[in-house]
Amino acid sequence: MSKLESVETLVIGSGPGGYVAALRSSQLGMKTAIVERSQLGGVCTHVGCIPSKALIAESHRYDLFRSFNNIDASGSFKNAQDFKRGIVNKQAGGVQYLLKMAGVSILEGEASLVDEHTVLIKQAGQEQTLSFKHAILATGSRPIELQAFPVEGRILSSTEALSLQEIPTSLIVIGGGYIGIELGQMYAKFGTKVTILEGGEQVLPGFEADLVAPVVRQLKADGVHIITGATAGSAVQNADTITLHYSQNQEQYHVTADYVLVTVGRKPNTDGKLGLEHIGLPVTSKGLIETDEQCRTSIPHIFAIGDITAGPALAHKASYEAKVAAEAIAGLTSKVDYKAIPLVVFSSPELSSVGVSETEAKAKSIPFVIGKASFGINGRALALRETEGFIKIVADPTSGIVIGAQIVGVEASTLISELALAIEMGATVEDLAMTIHPHPTLGEVIMEAADNAVRKMMIRK
Ligand code: FAD
Repeated sequence: MSKLESVETLVIGSGPGGYVAALRSSQLGMKTAIVERSQLGGVCTHVGCIPSKALIAESHRYDLFRSFNNIDASGSFKNAQDFKRGIVNKQAGGVQYLLKMAGVSILEGEASLVDEHTVLIKQAGQEQTLSFKHAILATGSRPIELQAFPVEGRILSSTEALSLQEIPTSLIVIGGGYIGIELGQMYAKFGTKVTILEGGEQVLPGFEADLVAPVVRQLKADGVHIITGATAGSAVQNADTITLHYSQNQEQYHVTADYVLVTVGRKPNTDGKLGLEHIGLPVTSKGLIETDEQCRTSIPHIFAIGDITAGPALAHKASYEAKVAAEAIAGLTSKVDYKAIPLVVFSSPELSSVGVSETEAKAKSIPFVIGKASFGINGRALALRETEGFIKIVADPTSGIVIGAQIVGVEASTLISELALAIEMGATVEDLAMTIHPHPTLGEVIMEAADNAVRKMMIRK
C-alpha cells in the first residue's frame, strides 16, 4: 500500500458535482485531488444528461427526415449511437482537460473513508491512502431496481436503454417521470411501439396538468400508449420478448414487448464501500446526507453535494452546490439559495419550470398573479412550425416580483433561464415586459406573458 501526501480538498466522485467542486477548489488555491471509480464526468456525461440529449436530438432529426424521405431506420440508429459516443467522449475529454489544466490530481479507484481525515483508494488490486483536510462527497446515484424487475436480459435501466445497438420493435416503460418520458418518446420517434405505465393519475407528476397536456398530445401523436393508474406486477422473459403483468382498477392485464425499461427513480450512492459508517456520518431513510446552507455535513470539514443530498437530482443543482462547498472550504461566505432551480423535461414539446407554480402558490396561500402568453401567434414559433404551448409567469400581485414560471413549448429548456435570472435578481414582471426582446424570437413570448401580468395588476389597482 502506498501513501500519497495530503491534500487540502479531497473530492470523491467526478460527476457535475465532483468535477466542478474540484475545479473551484483548485482555482481558489487549494491543493485538490479527485477520486473516480468509473469514468470522469459521472452519470451526467456517460449515462445521463449528455447521451440522452444526444439521442433525443438524433431522434428528432430522424423523425423529421423520415417525414420527407424513406430512410433506413437501423442505419440511422447506428449513426445516432455513433454520434452519441462521439459527444460523450468529447465531454469526458473536456472534463479531464479542465481538471488537469487546473492542477487537480486525478486518482482512479474506489474511495473508502477510513477515518475523518483519511481515504483508502483501491484500484485493480492496488491500494493507496491519502489524508485530507476537507472532503467533498459527490458520489451521485444509481437507478432504483424494483425487486420484481431486476435489471437483466430484457429488463433495462436507463443505462442499458441508452446503449441498445438496434431500435427495438416495442418497449414498455415502467414509470412516467422525466427519464421515462424522454427515453420513451425518443424511441417512439425512432419508430418503436412504446407503452408507458404510470402509477399516478398523470405522467410527469409534479408538473401541472395544463403543462403536461401538450406533451401527452404529442406522445400520442408519436404512437405512445400511456396507461395511468397502473401497477406493474411481474414480468416473464422469453427468448425474444418479455410479457409484463400489471393491474389497473383492480383488473389484471398484460402487455408484451422486446424490452421493459424501469425508470422509477434513483438511489443515492451513500452505501457500499464509501465507508460513511467509519466516520459516523448518518444518512436519512432515503440514504441522503443532510447538509447546511454551505453544503456542510454534521462533520464540519466534510461536505456533500449533488444527488446524495436532498432536492432534485439534477446536474446543475450538483454543480451549483459544488461551487458553494468549495468556496465554503476556502473560507468564503457563499450559501445555497434554492429559490430558482430550473427543472427541464426534454420531451417534445419541451417542458420547464422554475420557482413557485400556480398550484404551489395556491396550496401555500402565497398571493400571486399569473401572466400567460402562448407560442401560437409568435412569429418565430410560426416560422419553426412549433406553435404548441405557452409560458406562464407567477408573480407577487402587489410588487410584481417574479416568483415562478413554467413553460411548455419549443426551446422551453433555453427560455427558462431568463425567468430563473428574473427570480434570482428579484426582477418584476414590469422589468421583463419593458426589456426589449429582439423580434422575431421566442423570447417575445416571455415579454408577452409578463405584459399580461402587468395588465392584470393595473386592473386590480
Ligand atoms: P454523478 O453524476 O452520479 O457522479 C458520481 C460519480 O461518483 C460517478 O462517476 C461514480 O462512479 C463516482 N463514485 C461513486 N462512489 C464512488 C466511490 N466510492 N469512489 C470513487 N468514485 C465514486 N440532470 C439534468 O440536470 N439534466 C438532464 O437532462 C438529465 N438527464 C438525465 C438523464 C438520465 C438518463 C439520467 C440517468 C440522469 C439525468 N440527469 C439529468 C440527472 C444527472 O445525471 C444527475 O443529477 C447528476 O449526474 C448528478 O451529479 P453528481 O455529481 O451528484 O453525481
